[in-house]
Amino acid sequence: MALIVATAVLVGVHAAASYAIAERLDHAQLALDAGFALVLLIVAGWSLARLRGDRERAAVEGLLLDLLSTPRNIKDTATEALRLLADHGIGDAAVVAIAGEGDGPIQPTAATGYPRGWLDTAPAAGLEAVGAAPQWHRPKPAPPWVEPVAQRLGGRPWIAQIPLRSGTDTIGLLIVSLRRPGILAHAGLRELIATHLGAAFDHAALYEAAYRRERDLEEMETRRRDFMASLSHEIRTPLTSIQAFADLLRLDQGSMDDTAREMVASLSGGVDRLSALVNDLIDLGRTSSVELAAEPRDVDVVTILRDAEATLRPSVMLREQTFVLDIPNEPLRVHVDPRLLEQVILNLLSNANRYTPAGGVIGLSAFPLDDATVRIEVCDSGPGIPPEEREHIFEPYYRVRETERAVPGSGLGLAVARRLIDVCGGRIWADQSDTGGARFCVDIRASV
Ligand code: ADP
Repeated sequence: MALIVATAVLVGVHAAASYAIAERLDHAQLALDAGFALVLLIVAGWSLARLRGDRERAAVEGLLLDLLSTPRNIKDTATEALRLLADHGIGDAAVVAIAGEGDGPIQPTAATGYPRGWLDTAPAAGLEAVGAAPQWHRPKPAPPWVEPVAQRLGGRPWIAQIPLRSGTDTIGLLIVSLRRPGILAHAGLRELIATHLGAAFDHAALYEAAYRRERDLEEMETRRRDFMASLSHEIRTPLTSIQAFADLLRLDQGSMDDTAREMVASLSGGVDRLSALVNDLIDLGRTSSVELAAEPRDVDVVTILRDAEATLRPSVMLREQTFVLDIPNEPLRVHVDPRLLEQVILNLLSNANRYTPAGGVIGLSAFPLDDATVRIEVCDSGPGIPPEEREHIFEPYYRVRETERAVPGSGLGLAVARRLIDVCGGRIWADQSDTGGARFCVDIRASV
């Protein structure tokens, strides 16, 4: 643009001057022509250089933005930055040094064009070695980090020394050594690298911190799971023998007086509760373990529901509750891991049985919701679940305050159920039954 305007102005001036002195002084005309050509050449050269500088600046800016857009750790960011600079012929050798924690020393982190193995033995330097502003100079002798490549670059290379900035802090240094002045002679370009590359290292530091945190959390979670698993198993072994003795005592109740019978009943109740809790803990540990891999296949949900109902029937009869089973007569095919689905239905039925008062009603039904989904519902005529608690009850250890005193429990059964249904690719939620009790709905994938 500058070139076009300048040319237009010069052509105009030249035409006016030529007209004024035409036919009067031939040699004056000649001198004017020569002067005009010279000025035109200077303006064209200057404009071209500016254009090239702008294009190179834009190219480097593009490279640095690419670098910013991919999350990497500090070492990989340094290596990638130098690779990009080298690929674009910016410098013959370069080194990036990054500051340690706080104001720790800066340590060369990546280098290109340096002798093999130099990085492993490269000395650290204090952060004060980094000047505040990007520099461009031709020092003698070369600074220590440039020494290993100085000879190869002709003894006295040009050096761009660019502090890398994060806000107002300096977090590292980029030194680029060049055989002859290159585009890094542009102060604007050095400034651009200082801020953009600094931001890339800023991102890399955040990425590393987040990665470390995630790894720590994973380690903690593994340790917690191992601890819970071994604790649960340690408890289960002695508990099994206590339970066996409690059962023996229960069989022998005929020879006992009332007090002894009461004590045996309370012992049995306590042992049953404890083993239910331990089983829940083991289930929870198993569901959160990575080993849990569902093996979904096409199965008949009616069979699974009948089996679950048969398992729960004795407890239902004991509490004189009515069981209403509403399932199709013909098979209803679903795509699910039958082991996991049965455990979920047993958890829901066991809850319905425990939370519904004696003489109440428990319903179990299944029907196709549409071509892709089968819905299973477990309803009861118990106290129900307050609307604001219906999501919380799926959190581990969460229990509804109104019912927790009346019915012992661990608050784990529904957390296990949700995890299992998630693994099966289904959905589970709580609702209200027609009698005001609880309704639990489970949607699972129908077989196609
Ligand atoms: P637990 O029953 O061992 O406490 P769950 O995770 O199975 O643990 O249930 C979590 C909570 O949800 C229970 O403590 C109870 O407050 C509530 N709940 C679950 N099922 C029912 C139900 N059928 N009727 C009323 N409340 C229920």
